Amino acid sequence: MLSIETNQESGKKFLLPNFNGSPNQSLLPLTSTVNHENRLIIGGCDVTTLVERFGSPLYIVDEETLRSTCRQYREAFEKYYPGESLLIYASKAWSCMALCNIIASEGFGFDVVSAGELYTTLQALFHSGLSYSDNSDKIYLHGNNKSLSELNLAIDNNCTIVVDNWFELETLAKIAQTSNKKICILLRFTPGIECHTHEYIKTGHIDSKFGFDPNDLEAVFTFVSNNSAIECKGIHAHIGSQIFECKPHQDLAGVLVDWMKKAVAYGLPIKELNVGGGLGIRYTESDDPPSIDEWAKGICTAVVAACKETGLPQPKLIAEPGRSLIGTSCVTAYTIGSRKVVPGIRTYIAVDGGMSDNPRPITYQSEYLAVIANRMAAELEETVTVAGKHCESGDVLIQDIKLPVTKPGDILVVMATGAYNYSMASNYNRLPNPAAVLVNQGEANLIIKRESLEDLIYQDLLPERLVK
Ligand SMILES: *Cc1c(COP(=O)(O)O)cnc(C)c1O
Repeated sequence: MLSIETNQESGKKFLLPNFNGSPNQSLLPLTSTVNHENRLIIGGCDVTTLVERFGSPLYIVDEETLRSTCRQYREAFEKYYPGESLLIYASKAWSCMALCNIIASEGFGFDVVSAGELYTTLQALFHSGLSYSDNSDKIYLHGNNKSLSELNLAIDNNCTIVVDNWFELETLAKIAQTSNKKICILLRFTPGIECHTHEYIKTGHIDSKFGFDPNDLEAVFTFVSNNSAIECKGIHAHIGSQIFECKPHQDLAGVLVDWMKKAVAYGLPIKELNVGGGLGIRYTESDDPPSIDEWAKGICTAVVAACKETGLPQPKLIAEPGRSLIGTSCVTAYTIGSRKVVPGIRTYIAVDGGMSDNPRPITYQSEYLAVIANRMAAELEETVTVAGKHCESGDVLIQDIKLPVTKPGDILVVMATGAYNYSMASNYNRLPNPAAVLVNQGEANLIIKRESLEDLIYQDLLPERLVK
């Protein structure tokens, strides 16, 4: 295990062995080391060799980091919450069969937001022999505009539906009239809690597209309590993402218990409280997120205290981390190509991917760190800007980073790319999506194939009349 620290005087970066913080506080996957040839090793695999074998760019997922993160979440909730708790993975962060398999095998459930994510999860569970005995306790369908077919897919598979708005609630009431299945729901409200994060990833403020307005609380409870075919299991709220404070979630716990009390007064048997996800991770040295343990402790103690105060029994407590579960487990390896020096202003080095495999910098001005995997001990001699290869001036992965003097063919590894990278990837400029490999104790297995040029035109059709 190692962490990266900068010597404030020289600006030189050091790789420190024995990182013992929470996975979301590490910049590199927990198994990262440097070998005698000064090459970066992850999961016992030489990153440079992985790129030779599987091509570039390449997502590299460290199984041990992912499993360790899952376990830290589970252990923290078991330690601090005396009642029943459940962790579910916000699979929008990265949904694919192998990751679903690993996360399910660690005792997690799933939050899905579309038929595609639900299908991926169900298929992964089925083909892994990990299917749940009761999906309603493990798979939750979210979304602010679920289609009828998405709702029906979830109902057919006995999933719990997190109801977001009146249109959806009325649609479910109609489905319930003709279906003989009980429909299990949670109700999502906007809690009116602000947090410090990027505008686009805030969801808890009142002016948010997600969830019922809390002014509708009583009307919603009345509607649901008059509908016997709909079983309201609990209440949900999510306040945002990449949050570095514990306070907003502690406040949220109080708000949710307060709503639970109101719901109980309407005869609703509220058994579950879902506090959403949102714990941040470290992308750069200045990022300072709380540990998983601290975050869980804050929430658990706040729910216990609020229940005590209101005299309510402790609900099943659910949290749904996405970014902080998968983010640190993965790095993206790129091959460096061209260089452009703008004298006196900036030096660009370009890599063989960019906004198509990591749209976060262009979308949220996100910052990243990187190292050169094949020359880990080289002096950091120049400040460069790492550009992608897309036809967009904004396609820059990292502004002004200190790196060794690089040459074409060097392997640049961008850290903490597990969350919202592959899942937000596009084929802009018709770049095929990179492959992903899972590494563990020196073994590397492909978990997502690299797209081919044929894949890119697979869905294209040429109408007969256009063909000469
Ligand atoms: C995005 C999202 C999450 C996960 O957020 P992270 O910041 O990735 O942990 C959890 N719940 C809901 C409803 C979400 O929309």
